[in-house]
Amino acid sequence: MIPLFRPTLTGLEPERVAAAMAAGSLSGAGAFGRRCEAWLESATGCARALLVPSCTHALELSAMLLGIGPGDEVIVPSFTFSSTASAFALHGATIVFVDVLAGTMNMDVAAAAAAITKRTRAIVPVHYAGNACDMGALISLASAANVTIVEDAAQALGSTYRERPLGSLGALGALSFHSTKNIQCGEGGALLIGDPAMVDRAEILREKGTDRARFLRGEVDRYAWQEVGSSLLLGELPAAYLSAQLEASPEVNARRVASWEQYQAALAPLERAGHIELPRTTPEATHNGHIFYVKTRSRAEQVALSGALKARDIGAAFHYVPLHSAPAGVRVGRFSGDDRVTTADSARLLRLPLYDRMESADVETVAAAIAQFYGA
Ligand SMILES: *Cc1c(COP(=O)(O)O)cnc(C)c1O
Repeated sequence: MIPLFRPTLTGLEPERVAAAMAAGSLSGAGAFGRRCEAWLESATGCARALLVPSCTHALELSAMLLGIGPGDEVIVPSFTFSSTASAFALHGATIVFVDVLAGTMNMDVAAAAAAITKRTRAIVPVHYAGNACDMGALISLASAANVTIVEDAAQALGSTYRERPLGSLGALGALSFHSTKNIQCGEGGALLIGDPAMVDRAEILREKGTDRARFLRGEVDRYAWQEVGSSLLLGELPAAYLSAQLEASPEVNARRVASWEQYQAALAPLERAGHIELPRTTPEATHNGHIFYVKTRSRAEQVALSGALKARDIGAAFHYVPLHSAPAGVRVGRFSGDDRVTTADSARLLRLPLYDRMESADVETVAAAIAQFYGA
């Protein structure tokens, strides 16, 4: 059996969790939480990293920080996970979905440019498979239009664009530590804040609307309710677990990239023969090997190939029913421009097994099964 994914485990998690338990207090913003945040701040260069219960919460905190509300528009790619759109729709925004590019399945920046209106408040690029969206073009577009970039970097910890870590290029960036991601603690996330002017309010919104963070730093002698906020701290147990993973993340990502490259090399002959298409990476970017996928020629072939792999106990999976055609997407948004790639290519995309310490023999087995499916 070769599963689609296995949660990353470094082996150091039990001793970190035991240390957190021995220290006594398991609520948020403790020593391990601070350790993870310091690691993220130093790895990404952001002004402040805040651990939160999930990437979805990081995106919701972004919406609160930006004061997103009814009448505001937020541009997102239609080919993404529900959270990218749902976090902003929850605060009343209208979601404007745009197409993706076939090579990378990342937001088509020209389509985003055409979707901007007087009501546009934010653009949310997704770095699909941990491979950067065209951030150069997007940053020029957003600054010309005076629109904020919130990066959905859920899949992209450790990836870069022009040598800058993904999640740190926009005003705000959201990371996920869900068990399916490269670095995980079951459920968890972080908000990376690029703009120092947003830090104080973000801490207040995360702490039930209070300035408890200032109090804990000794800046005020009591704390009080300052704003309408929420409770968005990650507890110490998952933070302790996560600390082990973050510190091992360069090696974890390097091993995944090696498997990713092995897939590319093994499947290149099938691409040359016209059977499948392989992922393209963004120029001037590095990726973290989060996902490897192939594209078949049709939906029927996608389903057949998936079935053929499953018959050999190989996990394979489709990705994302386009959000603009999903039931909630129809209610909260509209598609701007032409759907040239999103619907057609999500019906052809098949993810292959990829996880930390995947045996190279297993990558070979998967590639050989695909070759056999095509009679090659
Ligand atoms: C995983 C993922 C999310 C959600 O992350 P959670 O931590 O589970 O909330 C959001 N966006 C994208 C693109 C993802 O891949």
